[in-house]
Amino acid sequence: MDYSKIYPIVKKVPKPVRDFAIRFINKRRLARVMKLKTPSKLVYFVTHRCNARCAHCFYWRDIRSHMNEMSLEEIKKVSASMGPIESMSLTGGEAILRDDLVEIMKTFYKNNGVKKFTLPTNGSMTEILKNHIENAFKRLPDIDLHVQISIDGMRKFHDKFRGVPGIFDKAVESVKMLNELKKKYPGLHSYVITTITNKNYREVKPLIKFVKTLHVDHKFQLVRGAHFSVFNINPKVLSDFDPEDKEVLLPTFDQMWEIYKILDTLEYEDPLYKEIQKLKFKYSIEMLQHKRPAVKCLAGKLDGVLYPDGKVAICEMTKPFANVRDFNYNFKKLWNSAEANEMRKQTRACFCTHSCNLVDSMVYDDKTLIRLANNG
Ligand code: SF4
Ligand code: SF4
Repeated sequence: MDYSKIYPIVKKVPKPVRDFAIRFINKRRLARVMKLKTPSKLVYFVTHRCNARCAHCFYWRDIRSHMNEMSLEEIKKVSASMGPIESMSLTGGEAILRDDLVEIMKTFYKNNGVKKFTLPTNGSMTEILKNHIENAFKRLPDIDLHVQISIDGMRKFHDKFRGVPGIFDKAVESVKMLNELKKKYPGLHSYVITTITNKNYREVKPLIKFVKTLHVDHKFQLVRGAHFSVFNINPKVLSDFDPEDKEVLLPTFDQMWEIYKILDTLEYEDPLYKEIQKLKFKYSIEMLQHKRPAVKCLAGKLDGVLYPDGKVAICEMTKPFANVRDFNYNFKKLWNSAEANEMRKQTRACFCTHSCNLVDSMVYDDKTLIRLANNG
């Protein structure tokens, strides 16, 4: 469902009727999620390979490993065992390093009806990115492809932080290339995403000014680390996804609230997205500050994570609990196994600031939906 289109209509309905309708409809939506036999939002780490060495990367151990990635044939079997998937994030590592990326997209498009893909990239390989996008729209013309280019600061900072000289200029080149391609493919969307840490806090203001000149939406997320962004969880099930540089941490609360105020001044192509973005940020700061959950997390039902070597987790912040290779590539069987149920039990009460899981859960939360309908 395209929420951006119904948002202006919903806002016109009188508040008591609107609140009642939101609760009524959402109860049914949630019941559908609880009945899912496989996740309808999949984060797929298509590769562990990456050409960058970012200080805040939580996937650094795997990037340096010699992982046996699943072949296209193996991926086809996994996809065939899954139900409908509403949206899929193709991540890694640097996902565009997989030559068969579009074949993977086509597989999930055909078997699981995926029409919405998200592709996070460090933007350093403009030509390869362009080729994948052109190829994807040639083969799958009716998809929505959301490409997010990471830029964490101005040139000097970004090149050093990402461990690749010249990566800032390449990322900017990729943003410009995407602006051109968007004229040709209406299903292509792009934006710059900045991960906020204690290291780049001072970069944010000049970066916002700069990104405005690129005519692209600018989004933000707080740095992730299993040991500083997850609460109320058994440490035994926590993943080891923490930044390699131990000095990379969250900014102070005062700095986070200041960034929250800046977000309010930004304009986005989609006004609903702006409200979600602001609320996500607010919830995250409140969670960190008061150690209280903002919403009920739906990871393990709505969301799932598949790693390059076939391991599966309910979210990135918890350890993988099984491998599709040990289940004869039957994802459905794995997702409904005793191991999966045990992981759901272990994570019944945890809460965290992982922005993907947070946003996915927010749009199924009565209180959040009512706030959004009342303008955030
Ligand atoms: S954060 Fe992304 S671009 Fe940077 S090293 Fe990790 S996977 Fe690569
Ligand atoms: S709150 Fe959700 S996303 Fe975060 S660690 Fe727990 S189960 Fe995973």
